[in-house]
Amino acid sequence: MIVQPKVRGFICTTAHPTGCRKNIENQIIYTKNKGTFNGPKKVLIIGSSTGYGLASRVTLAFGSGADTLGIMFEKQASEKRTATAGYYNTKAFEEFATNEGLYAKTINGDAFSTEIKEQTIATIKEDLGKIDCVIYSLAAPRRTVSDGTTYSSVLKTVENPFTEKNLNLRNNEITTATIEPATNEEITATVKVMGGEDWINWIDVLTKADVLSDNAMTIAYSYIGPELTYPVYCNGTIGKAKEHLYNSSIEINQKYGSKIKAYISVNKALVTQASCAIPIVPLYITILYKVMKEMGIHEDCLMQMNRLFKDKMSSSEIETDKEGRIRLDDWELREDVQDKVNDIWQKINNDNVEQYIDLEGYWEAFYQMFGFKIEDVDYDADVEI
Ligand code: NAD
Repeated sequence: MIVQPKVRGFICTTAHPTGCRKNIENQIIYTKNKGTFNGPKKVLIIGSSTGYGLASRVTLAFGSGADTLGIMFEKQASEKRTATAGYYNTKAFEEFATNEGLYAKTINGDAFSTEIKEQTIATIKEDLGKIDCVIYSLAAPRRTVSDGTTYSSVLKTVENPFTEKNLNLRNNEITTATIEPATNEEITATVKVMGGEDWINWIDVLTKADVLSDNAMTIAYSYIGPELTYPVYCNGTIGKAKEHLYNSSIEINQKYGSKIKAYISVNKALVTQASCAIPIVPLYITILYKVMKEMGIHEDCLMQMNRLFKDKMSSSEIETDKEGRIRLDDWELREDVQDKVNDIWQKINNDNVEQYIDLEGYWEAFYQMFGFKIEDVDYDADVEI
């Protein structure tokens, strides 16, 4: 089949197997070039197939020689449809890792479910014995809990409507978007999906099954961002969920402190399948990319994860802020960066948009997530999907 991108709104409904494979190959080359480090050796990554979870997996496998077990929720190909990008990424990752003698298995199913947790524990017992690191990198739209209730997360404000400039990704025009406040039920549901309840649940069941080694660590990813996006992110429904995630790290440390240490890593805003869906944020990201690239300090998911595990976490003294969080958003939130972003934000309109945002960089990152627009891939060739 000749596979072309089919973009609908903020998602691409096709993925290119060769492009995704090339992406993984490039990520492995980058990681190897950065050099090895002494990190965890047996790692469970919950949300391992795209974005920050995938970047963590590549970094730990090819930088620290880690055996990895991944959990993902991805679709296989059918006769007419390609698989999802995360599926192709994972197949390629497993092949490259296995060829280098690293253990790499992936469980495809709902990480929130008891069944997948049990399957994970059985796999760890059989293949790995114990694990020394659990990465929690889920970005999910909904969660079904054990009594059958399904909660859906929303990206809304918490008190008042919020109107701001927005980038219309269909025609690249600057418009304004108004985000309405969520109801109490919607806030609760978002916290259920994106908060830390399921993270704690994972740590509880892994501890109970005795599959965590002594001095294991667990890390979940969060975001804060600049004041500009506070109403929609930090003080919005997703921010409430992230607050719960942070409190969950404290709860895990209180409960299991001597055995497992929980961390929150606050990462940089990047184009991923999850972040494209947040209103107003894509305009911020395109401005941020422009500013940080011009300053020579732009990073993608892989660069961020390399800095996390190699620079921030591999020494015995892990560098945190006073709340105990690891700050990978340190460069994004630098005053000189945010001053430039704010200045552009004030000036930007449809006449000057191309001058002030990294639209090309945004779309390149977007297409590349699905295996398109990658160098040395023949997109006219027939591929086995
Ligand atoms: P992503 O969409 O690229 O990845 C999400 C992963 O979760 C995928 O592997 C997917 O298969 C998996 N997943 C989703 N639902 C699942 C389910 N029910 N069961 C099993 N697996 C499931 O997202 P991302 O942007 O890498 O986000 C990961 C984490 O990083 C999130 O907590 C997000 O808030 C955080 N974060 C993202 C950004 C950003 O700008 N993208 C910035 C800071 C922090």
